[in-house]
Amino acid sequence: KAKENGRNTFEFYASEMTEYALERMAMKTSLKEAIGKEELCIHYQPQIDARTEKIIGLEALVRWQHPTRGLLYPEVFIGLAEETGLIVDIDRWVMRTAMKQVSAWHGEALLSDILALNISIKQLEGHHFMEEIERALNDFAFKPAWLELEIAEGQVMKNHTEMITRLEKLSAMGIGISIDDFGTGYSSLSLLKRLPINRLKIDKSFIMDIPGDEEDMAIVKAIIALADSLKLDIIAEGVETDAQKDFLVKNGCTKIQGFYYSRPITSEQVRYFLQKHQ
Ligand code: C2E
Ligand code: MG
Ligand code: MG
Ligand code: MG
Repeated sequence: KAKENGRNTFEFYASEMTEYALERMAMKTSLKEAIGKEELCIHYQPQIDARTEKIIGLEALVRWQHPTRGLLYPEVFIGLAEETGLIVDIDRWVMRTAMKQVSAWHGEALLSDILALNISIKQLEGHHFMEEIERALNDFAFKPAWLELEIAEGQVMKNHTEMITRLEKLSAMGIGISIDDFGTGYSSLSLLKRLPINRLKIDKSFIMDIPGDEEDMAIVKAIIALADSLKLDIIAEGVETDAQKDFLVKNGCTKIQGFYYSRPITSEQVRYFLQKHQ
């Protein structure tokens, strides 16, 4: 049977592959151009202290306003950007654009809080990263204490020593470091102890089914306890309901990011949100 199908199967795969490869190539070329053509944009998601309902930060999330395909979310292009190295250019663009924007809000006293940026390990390890970050801080009169870099737990593993040195430098400058999607990667506790990090972000996959899912509730409590004992700050992402928020607050995680308070929104919407929540 396999033999019978062998040839057709191959042809099927071959044409699929070609189509896939062609689409990827087209996507790669247009992503490369997207930065220069100003097709990228940033949405900001508020981070809220549930006790005061005040804003404590904004996370910058990149989007691609594609000329024919509409607004594209990172899951569609970040993977490709990482494979091709374009992520370095994207992250640099996001960093400068968001810092410029947030610095303006600080100047207008609309905001006094943190800007969180997602940093790929490729950018963190790039030769010019330290220079670039210093230049951006300087260009936009941005205080290091206003900045937090989010590194996904899944990326933390690679190249410990060099990464730790970089993070230590950033931390010494006063920049906050957080571990994103915490609980989904494999970072060891001893590594966590050695890293100069300020905050864990509980991954949204653990939040989705609480309260109700006993295992997820236990995991969330354990992560909060871990953060407590390592003296790390903690925030939950992907919070959508009252019940999820209440569970978190009751268990000691009062910082909340999620659709419950706000979806990621455009800079014009942020302005409105800030006027309402400060
Ligand atoms: P992340 O850093 O973990 O960001 C949180 C993601 O969860 C965002 O998806 C956000 O829209 C989504 N989210 C927030 N609250 C809720 C909620 O209540 N329910 C649900 N279902 N989702 C929620 P988004 O914007 O699609 O970004 C996906 C990922 O892409 C980010 O995950 C981050 O890893 C990556 N990413 C986004 N922007 C950048 C960037 O500028 N540079 C890099 N390197 N990666 C980025
Ligand atoms: Mg993040
Ligand atoms: Mg996350
Ligand atoms: Mg993520």
